Amino acid sequence: MTVVEYKNDIIVIDMGFQFKEEDTPGIDYILPNTRYLEENKEKIRAVVITHGHLDHIGGIPYIMERIGNPPIYTRYLTALMIKKRQEEFPHLKPLDIKTIEKGERVIFGELPVRFFGVTHTIPDSMGVIIDTPFGTIVTPGDFKLDHTDGTPTEREAKEYEIFNDINVLLLLADSTNIENPGFSTPEKLVHKNLEEIVRNTRSRLIIGTFSSQFQRMIKIIEAAEKYGKKIVVEGRSMKNNIEIAIAAKMLEVKKDTIISAQDIGRYPPDRVIVLATGAQGEEFAALMRMANKNHKYLSINKHDTVVLSSSIIPGNEKTVQKLKDNIARQGAKIIHYRTSDVYIHSTGHANRGELEWLHRRLKPKFFVPIHGHHYMLRLHAELAMSLGMPENRIVVPDNSMIIEIQDGGEKIAALKEKAPAELVLVDGFAVGEAQEVVLRDRQMLAKDGMFVIIGSINVQTGKLRKSPDIISRGFVYLRESQELLHQTRFIIKRAIEEASSGMHPINFDYVKETVTDAVSRFLFQKTAKRPIVIPVILGV
Ligand SMILES: [Zn+2]
Ligand SMILES: [Zn+2]
Repeated sequence: MTVVEYKNDIIVIDMGFQFKEEDTPGIDYILPNTRYLEENKEKIRAVVITHGHLDHIGGIPYIMERIGNPPIYTRYLTALMIKKRQEEFPHLKPLDIKTIEKGERVIFGELPVRFFGVTHTIPDSMGVIIDTPFGTIVTPGDFKLDHTDGTPTEREAKEYEIFNDINVLLLLADSTNIENPGFSTPEKLVHKNLEEIVRNTRSRLIIGTFSSQFQRMIKIIEAAEKYGKKIVVEGRSMKNNIEIAIAAKMLEVKKDTIISAQDIGRYPPDRVIVLATGAQGEEFAALMRMANKNHKYLSINKHDTVVLSSSIIPGNEKTVQKLKDNIARQGAKIIHYRTSDVYIHSTGHANRGELEWLHRRLKPKFFVPIHGHHYMLRLHAELAMSLGMPENRIVVPDNSMIIEIQDGGEKIAALKEKAPAELVLVDGFAVGEAQEVVLRDRQMLAKDGMFVIIGSINVQTGKLRKSPDIISRGFVYLRESQELLHQTRFIIKRAIEEASSGMHPINFDYVKETVTDAVSRFLFQKTAKRPIVIPVILGV
């Protein structure tokens, strides 16, 4: 999410979320912190969504109401995807979505805004051009070039002609693939290779890909029709997106091309293609269930050919490996982009060569690299400098940084002041900042387990009535730790009785704190672990 503010007008660009990370156990998604926007909602003129990927639209159901439901401006397909997703949140107020097209011009407050079409792995992706009195702010959003040997296609060259007479004050650009040299593989090559595979495979073909790869799904379905094969679609998001593609008239399917999984047995295996979600090894997605024989109608066998037409999203290496192992265990042939000598997947993001092309084409005065790990942002800044931009015209941002263009467009600077930045987490039905405490507990529980002490004190004497009960989970196996238990009971007894003796009435909070400290310290000395210690002390 990027926010552009000029005088009394705020324009929000994209509203995504981030998937959970290893250090956020049990959390579904991480949202951008929108407190600044909540406090300034009367200034928000528009939310502009560049394209329909979840890291750009995923936050909409959680955030829009908090910021006063401002109008959303986006292109046709993205609008359909946002609406489809919103159906899963029936309790929310309806969104005010305004469909715009590239080439259109809209005025948000005092700011005229235009859009241009970009190539990405999802159709209707667009870049945003915001005109300010000091020059123009531009972001292409997620983009790549659909080039031939480094020359953009005619269609793309036309899209970028809009910049012939724009004085670009600031460019904000995607840095995801800055580490990859040259130009990225054009998607058309992938389509050609997939069509070959559809044509030449003499067994059942199972293709796993991202459900947001509209063009690729469409090509596969078209190839299936061309070579007389049926398609089974597996996975809810895949089914949804095929419906959207048909509604958007991007795809026309013959009535009997798509068959249901139950009917698969009615066709010879070499006449059937299964199009499935889960190429990242997601546990409950169609591919994994088919590979584990947990799917009601489909299971992978040694006659099958499985194509994994996707890259591995960083962080998913282990789950993808597990998926490949499970498929291999069934004896099927696997074609993955790593093992295949033909391209069956291409990235959606510009490689270094394309980024260089963008900088040369737009000639921005100032530059802020976005999207990607901090290290990649740095590399992107270095690329800009290697093309002649002075260092003081570049700001490498961090989350919540406020960057200001000052002196009538002569200077760019990061302010000392920051926008609120605490993690906002979606945890089941709960959304909020307060979840961090919960998160810390989960991390500790996951690491060292918990240790519960139950003791009852005689309120007259301050003595324990009997030896305390101990319950632990995920810490040590108690039955085999009798000596440790014995010593811990002794520590507990001493801590409680020292804390409560001579105290009338007994301050239970104080006793609990004392016993928690003593036990935590003792367990750490003995085991080098820090389980969460929970004392339950009753007065009788
Ligand atoms: Zn994207
Ligand atoms: Zn993205």
